[in-house]
Amino acid sequence: MSQDYRVLLYYKYVDIENPEEVTQEHLEFCKELGLKGRILIAKEGINGTVSGTIEQTDAYIEHMNAHPLFSDIIYKVDEVTEHAFPKMKVRYRPELVTLRLENDIDPRKTTGKHLKPKEWLEALQSEDTVVIDARNDYEYELGHFRGAVKPDINTFKELPQWIKENKKNFEGKKILTYCTGGVRCEKFSGWLLEEGFEDVSQLDGGIVTYGKDPEVQGELWDGQCYVFDERISVPINQKEHVVVGKDHFSGEPCERYVNCANPECNKKILSSEENEHKYLRSCSHECRVDPRNRYIIEHGLTEEEVSKRMDAIKEEVTN
Ligand SMILES: [Zn+2]
Repeated sequence: MSQDYRVLLYYKYVDIENPEEVTQEHLEFCKELGLKGRILIAKEGINGTVSGTIEQTDAYIEHMNAHPLFSDIIYKVDEVTEHAFPKMKVRYRPELVTLRLENDIDPRKTTGKHLKPKEWLEALQSEDTVVIDARNDYEYELGHFRGAVKPDINTFKELPQWIKENKKNFEGKKILTYCTGGVRCEKFSGWLLEEGFEDVSQLDGGIVTYGKDPEVQGELWDGQCYVFDERISVPINQKEHVVVGKDHFSGEPCERYVNCANPECNKKILSSEENEHKYLRSCSHECRVDPRNRYIIEHGLTEEEVSKRMDAIKEEVTN
């Protein structure tokens, strides 16, 4: 019989004097509890997502609430049927979210206005508003708010530079920004204010909270929300499901992520099962023919079989 499990997602910006020590203690504690997941600890706070049984996650929240540094955290809770991570990792990092700003932002001092889901839904539909997705490209491609701008970047840390280069598109506008759970926007919206943008708001609690709100029910969200655990994606819009993801190979609607089989590349690509096999789960020709290709190794394909499949792809291109 399947036990009841939960996934917790949370963060808190707080001064941690001895983050490396706290990291070690926290790892031991989480392992003792039997949790699995990924937690980052920096001198500026904690950012985590863990899975465990109801008892384990309850015990964790109780312990955190009694902790001098980690009380008052808001946990986003998802019900699941099993662990959502292979193991428990707690890592020390110089930053909670990787932005590598010249002048770091303390979101407790400088951050955009927090909008509750209802306020966010209204703001989304108001004029002179520009919505900036503050996530990585593969997260946007699986799902995003309708009409949101996709910055032309691969990873979140390139976002400030991209904004600087495209500043004129955002000047004088009401800026709305959002991310999965809110931790990235706390900093990014603060940076926007420092950069001189005056009207900057962020989605309080992130996409995940928005999808659970009984009133808005995820309205105006298209696609799925990418999550950093074994589920890979979760639904957000309870009213309608518009697929925005596109198969990397065929362009057909698709919401299934695989990692490119070339271990050097490992890029996340949306692909149907059929195309995964047809294209050897590889994003490009170079990745397909790479001698370390994991698909070829996993399926024990002989050279002959590989070249047969390569011919099938080639034929399609020339036709
Ligand atoms: Zn690749």
